[in-house]
Amino acid sequence: MPLMYTGMPLDRCTNQRKSIDWLNNQFESDSAVFVLIRDGENLFLHENPLTPVYLRRDQLPGISVNSCIFLGRDASVAVFALDCNKLNFSESQAIEQFGIWRQLRQLGSVLSAADAAIAALAKGLVYWHRTHLYCGKCGCLSQLIEAGHARRCTNSDCRNMSFPRTDPAVIMLVERMFEDGVARCLLGRQQSWPTGVYSTLAGFVDPGESLEEAVIREVDEESAIKVQDVTYIRSQPWPFPASIMLGFTAVAATEEIDVSNDDLEIAKWFSREQLQHFASKESGEDTQQDQYKNSSSDSISYYLIQAWKNKEIGRY
Ligand SMILES: [Zn+2]
Repeated sequence: MPLMYTGMPLDRCTNQRKSIDWLNNQFESDSAVFVLIRDGENLFLHENPLTPVYLRRDQLPGISVNSCIFLGRDASVAVFALDCNKLNFSESQAIEQFGIWRQLRQLGSVLSAADAAIAALAKGLVYWHRTHLYCGKCGCLSQLIEAGHARRCTNSDCRNMSFPRTDPAVIMLVERMFEDGVARCLLGRQQSWPTGVYSTLAGFVDPGESLEEAVIREVDEESAIKVQDVTYIRSQPWPFPASIMLGFTAVAATEEIDVSNDDLEIAKWFSREQLQHFASKESGEDTQQDQYKNSSSDSISYYLIQAWKNKEIGRY
């Protein structure tokens, strides 16, 4: 099962993009296309299903290579990202004719894998530039360099370089074999989520902490469950706004859940049978007694739960 936002179809051309001549050639080629972001939203065609808009340079008369971020290229097309908040009012207004602005997070699960990966990279890099306008060392303005994959301080006494940030977060399917011989997994929900939606537990990695230590600490903080045998499964870019989700399984050494020390509304143990009720609910069968609903299908949480339900991951 492929994870949404992975599978980038473009070559990022990490070495070539540092050459200004090479970059100019990509920008000026007739086949260059541009992915637009405004206020954190991506531009989509009006059609149903929604697909991302890729504009040509002649549709964006005011732009220069210095305001664009090179995302990568395939055999025929170079793809750039553009922050529409940098355009003047009339230029920005003109964009409206090409599509509608939507949160990628709301549409990710219906996009093709290639479109979702490109849209996620564009969103992530534009966000990073918007939130790193000033040098973190001296506070002066910084400017976009290296095709948008770095910023450099404009203060000639400083010239500090900064690079796009990705915040690591661990997300874990915690399982346990109970005395009744039934394996169950630990899922939790926050009060703000739609009724019945549960997800795997997750949290950010602290400085000076290994990923395995982060899994153990986060599960303990959120549910008071002690875990061991932490095993890495796979990862997913998560540009909402700037994370990578690192998926694990872990085995619970305890059963008693306590969510009073953190922000979860509730956490519960679910057997495979209980998780299966959701699938039958989707197919129209009445399973009123069950309270579990899937988290969004574009998320690694969904993948971890499905893979565990199908016995593709985990010990039990
Ligand atoms: Zn500086």
